[in-house]
Amino acid sequence: LEIIAKVEPRVADATRAELRDQRSSLKLIASENYASPATLLTMGTWFSDKYAEGTVGHRFYAGCQNVDTVEALAAEHARELFGAPYAYAQPHSGIDANLVAFWSILAHRVETPGLEKLGAKNVNELSESDWEQLRHELGNQRLLGMALDAGGHLTHGFRPNISGKMFHQQQYGTDPQTGLLDYDAVAAKAREFKPLIIVAGYSAYPRRINFAKMREIADEVGATLMVDMAHFAGLVAGKVFTGDEDPVPFAHVTTTTTHKSLRGPRGGLVLAQEEYAADVDRGCPMVLGGPLGHVMAAKAVALAEARQPEFRTYAQNVADNAKALAEGFLSRGAQLVTGGTDNHIVLLDVSTFGLTGRQAESALLDAGVVTNRNSIPHDPNGAWYTSGIRFGTPALTTRGFGRDEFDRVAELVVDVLKNTSVGTTKAGAPSKAAYALADGVADRTHAASAEMLD
Ligand code: PLP
Repeated sequence: LEIIAKVEPRVADATRAELRDQRSSLKLIASENYASPATLLTMGTWFSDKYAEGTVGHRFYAGCQNVDTVEALAAEHARELFGAPYAYAQPHSGIDANLVAFWSILAHRVETPGLEKLGAKNVNELSESDWEQLRHELGNQRLLGMALDAGGHLTHGFRPNISGKMFHQQQYGTDPQTGLLDYDAVAAKAREFKPLIIVAGYSAYPRRINFAKMREIADEVGATLMVDMAHFAGLVAGKVFTGDEDPVPFAHVTTTTTHKSLRGPRGGLVLAQEEYAADVDRGCPMVLGGPLGHVMAAKAVALAEARQPEFRTYAQNVADNAKALAEGFLSRGAQLVTGGTDNHIVLLDVSTFGLTGRQAESALLDAGVVTNRNSIPHDPNGAWYTSGIRFGTPALTTRGFGRDEFDRVAELVVDVLKNTSVGTTKAGAPSKAAYALADGVADRTHAASAEMLD
C-alpha cells in the first residue's frame, strides 16, 4: 500500500477503507466471498502485463509459454474438480462465460450446418448473400431461461440484456403456490416454444435443481442444455450437490463464475462435453480478446484449493448454515420464498414487515448487515424497489461462522426490520450487535489479508 500511496494516495486510502468495511460488517451478499491470500496475491503479478490471444500452445503473440502454463493448470484443475471433459479458463466474468457459451452453441448448432447447407467449407467461401442468410438464421434462434423474478439471471434471456435481444426468448417461472420449479410446466413450455437452448441456473432461487430432469426436457425438444452454475459452483465442487443435482454430467455446456461460492478470483469458466469443446475453444477471438493471465493464474490457485478435502467441509457448512439462517428466520415468524432453503441462498419476503426491499436493505446496511434487495416471484414492487432481501452464507462461512452465529444473524435482522418504520429506515441500536458479531468470530482468512496489507 505504501508503494500505491506514493502514486495515488486516494486509491491506497480506498483500499484500506474497503478492507475495514469488509471486516467490520456482516457480508451476507449471496454472490460474494473472501478469496484466500494466495488467490489475491496471484492476481497482482506480472501476468497482467502479457498479451496472449489464442489458446494454450496456439497463440497470436510470442512469448506466451508462462501464460500457457497457468491457463493449462486452471483448465486441468477445473476438469478434475468438476469431472468435465473440457474446461475453458479465459472468460473474464460470468457474463463473458455465458456469451462464450451462447456463441459456441450457435456456432455448433447453427453456423456449421448453415455452412454445409450453403456448400461452403469455411466462412471465407461465403458470398454476401450467404452471409445474409447465415445472419438471418443466427438471429432467429430461441432461448428458454428462468425468469428474473423467479430467480434467474439477466443473461438468461432478460429483455434489457443482450441475451434477451439476440434470441427470441421465453421464460419459465416457478409455481405460484410453492415458489418451486415446476418441471412439467417447463416441459410444456419447451414443447410449445421449441428452443435451441434451455438455460438452467439461478441467482436467487433458494432450492436445488434436478438437472437430469432438465436434460430430459432438453432432449425431448432437441435443445442444448446450458447450465449457469455461477452461484452454486462451490456446492458442486464441494460435492454437496451430487447425482441429479450436479449439472456437469447433464449439461452440454456449463458456465460459472469463479468468485462466488467457489471462492476464487473474479472471473468465469466454461465447461463442456466433448462435442462442444472445439467451439468453446474459439471463445477468443469469437467473443473475447486477450485473456487475463494474472486472473487465470489465480483461478488455478483457487481451483487447487477447492480440490482439497477442507473445501468439502466448507461447502457442507455453507449449506448447513443457510438452513440455520432460514430456521432462525422462520422461528421468529418471518416469511421465506419457498419456505426455506436447500442451497446457500435465503430469500426473505420483507413485505410482512411493511417494508420494500430497498427500505429493508438500507436499514440493514445502517446496522452493519450488507445484503441486497431482490425481487420475489410476481413481485408487486418491481425490480428496483422489490419486496425481498437475498441472503447468502458463503462469505461468513469463510470467516468461520457456524449455525449459532447464523441464528444470531437471523435474530439481528428480524430485530432491525421490526424496528424500522417507513420514512426513517434508521436502525439504531442493533448496529452495535452486528459489529460485535462480526468482530467476535474467528477471522483467519481475513486476518491474513490484513497482514498482507500491513
Ligand atoms: N450468472 C449468474 C447466475 C449470476 O448470478 C451472475 C452474477 O451475479 C452472472 C452470471 C454474471 O457474473 P459476472 O458479474 O461475473 O458477469
